[in-house]
Amino acid sequence: MSRLPCKLILIASLLFSSMVAGASSFPTQEPMGGKPFGHSVKNIGNGLYVFRWWVYRNLFIVTDDGVIVTDPMNSKAANILRNEIRKITDKPVKYVVYSHNHHDHISGGNIFKEEGAKFIGHKNLLKALADHPNPVTPLPDITFKDTYTLTLGGRTLELNYLGPNHGNSLVVMRLPKEKVLFVVDIVTPRRIAFRTMPDFWPDEWIRSLKKIEKMDFDYVISGHGPEGEPAIDPASVVAEQRIYLEDLMAAVKKAMDSGTHSPDALRKIVKLPKYENWRYYKEWLPMNIERIWAYYHMGW
Ligand SMILES: [Zn+2]
Repeated sequence: MSRLPCKLILIASLLFSSMVAGASSFPTQEPMGGKPFGHSVKNIGNGLYVFRWWVYRNLFIVTDDGVIVTDPMNSKAANILRNEIRKITDKPVKYVVYSHNHHDHISGGNIFKEEGAKFIGHKNLLKALADHPNPVTPLPDITFKDTYTLTLGGRTLELNYLGPNHGNSLVVMRLPKEKVLFVVDIVTPRRIAFRTMPDFWPDEWIRSLKKIEKMDFDYVISGHGPEGEPAIDPASVVAEQRIYLEDLMAAVKKAMDSGTHSPDALRKIVKLPKYENWRYYKEWLPMNIERIWAYYHMGW
């Protein structure tokens, strides 16, 4: 299968995107905004699709020999995802690849297990899921230590473990021919870091982003993005994420070095006006600041 020229992927994402109406059958509402949960499927070209449910996203790859699915999210989203895949192909889901151990991304895969899919994830997932089991999260059938290359129907998906950063099992997925990267939680374009940065290790996070910046890719699909955000971004969003973290850490450290050691005071005085246009700047920046205070105060 020939590689789509990079520009063509972007054009395809505009021309062939098929927005699917929000699922009105969900009884619950989005916690932020109060709207019903919705979903969409975007065809970004060459058999690659971005599935969004609420603010969560995954990548699925339709090949001549079956489908590769990434993070199934939860039982509701996985059911919708399976129906959307059925509209595109009658080929079975052969593999489900987990990005990391957090339940909000990788639950609900049992419906693909029942259809015969094999599950793949980093070896540290086995302990994480043994310690925190979930009946709708099948354990991986295939695990690996550093890298794993998955091939199906002439397509290649490379899985890379970069060390601890957000939990200790996160893998970054790369399509080497298409130069597309799928990355969950450690890169979210144009958004302040998530709330109090739960299970994020700041210095390890930055170290991982520097490793990603050295990889060969032109486009990034992020595991998070609300309706209206582009499904695919340029590679530069990885450096932007790293620079945000570096700016955040430097600003908190500077204020602490100047004598402010109370997290409550730091939350009020530290500002990062360069990022005022990023989503959740006002709401989440104080929480980001408190997390970095803890890092410098406790060494963690
Ligand atoms: Zn996570």
